[in-house]
Amino acid sequence: MAATARIIDFLRDRRPEGPCLVVDLEVIADNYKAFTRAMPDTRIFYAVKANPAPEVLKLLADLGSCFDTASVAEIEMALAAGATPERISYGNTIKKERDVARAHQLGISMFAVDCVEEAEKVSRAAPGARVFCRILTDGAGAEWPLSRKFGCDPDMATEVLLHAHALGLKAYGISFHVGSQQTRLGAWDSALAEAKSIFDSLAGHGITLSMVNLGGGFPTKYLKPVPGTATYANAIHDGLAKHFGNAIPETIIEPGRGMVGNAGVIKTEVVLISKKHANDNQRWVYLDIGKFGGLAETMDEAIRYPITTARDGDAKTPCVIAGPTCDSADVLYEKTPYDLPVTLSVGDEVLIEATGAYTTTYASVAFNGFTPLQAYII
Ligand SMILES: *Cc1c(COP(=O)(O)O)cnc(C)c1O
Repeated sequence: MAATARIIDFLRDRRPEGPCLVVDLEVIADNYKAFTRAMPDTRIFYAVKANPAPEVLKLLADLGSCFDTASVAEIEMALAAGATPERISYGNTIKKERDVARAHQLGISMFAVDCVEEAEKVSRAAPGARVFCRILTDGAGAEWPLSRKFGCDPDMATEVLLHAHALGLKAYGISFHVGSQQTRLGAWDSALAEAKSIFDSLAGHGITLSMVNLGGGFPTKYLKPVPGTATYANAIHDGLAKHFGNAIPETIIEPGRGMVGNAGVIKTEVVLISKKHANDNQRWVYLDIGKFGGLAETMDEAIRYPITTARDGDAKTPCVIAGPTCDSADVLYEKTPYDLPVTLSVGDEVLIEATGAYTTTYASVAFNGFTPLQAYII
């Protein structure tokens, strides 16, 4: 997604100093509406960590969104944006018991767990709350997979929910996350098959689960085209119908990247262009933003952002792109260099597109004295 006219106008008129993210709220509103149109029976819990700017949360709260949060601070941000506690889930499977207690005091009544130990914490600190159990997925097809850190084996989920029920909690449902920037439409199908078998085994114990939390994973268009929201919705709907037949449960989704990724553009500036030896035909282009300034998802070159300059009509040459800090890990793209204009010069402005998600939240506080990424929400 290229920068919108509103973003281009803002940068031209305001000329903000230093690297900055500019987010167009109209794009987020369109994304929200596309999700609700494509999945009218599914509640949307925006994953706050993707971009927690107060203006973004307020817009989504006003549009009717619910919120997936991972800490007391995120819960407080969602409440401040106008969401009521019933519209907020505490979706982190790793919580301090006193944070669960604080969330419970604030009125939050839905929590994620992935083991009996966490269910025990929730039963003590938020008695009677609803819990959903997160199951592992393999993350295949995701450009930013989530590994084995979250979720339990589906066979264990039955045990976790039975234990939660015995502790007086409401065994409410199953959740999974197919991996972020998931480009494989079939990724939800196998997870839904697992979810159904857990529904069945709980039913065998007289417990009726109500909800499947389909997680995030909805993509943003970076360099390669991705299917649209409606295509994802159809694939998910087919999976639900195939596995749950005419007893489709309540569903929720937790889009982060797919809600805000294409709404933002980072403006950055070329600090230095150099070569490593006299005959080197590869240029090193150093920008005033890098891995520690908000572009952490370039780790292993996982997310490849579209990069544009005012000289894109000129001939291009392969360039390594690096950040400005004194850490040698602060190289954005080297294994697969980017073609940038041969005329690109020090001081030129460079736009890094589709950077609305997972950038401000990943910026370090002041590594080498560089200030955290500035954001303008318009
Ligand atoms: C980060 C996160 C999301 C958002 O994932 P995206 O791939 O950005 O949509 C959703 N749910 C949970 C539990 C998360 O941790």
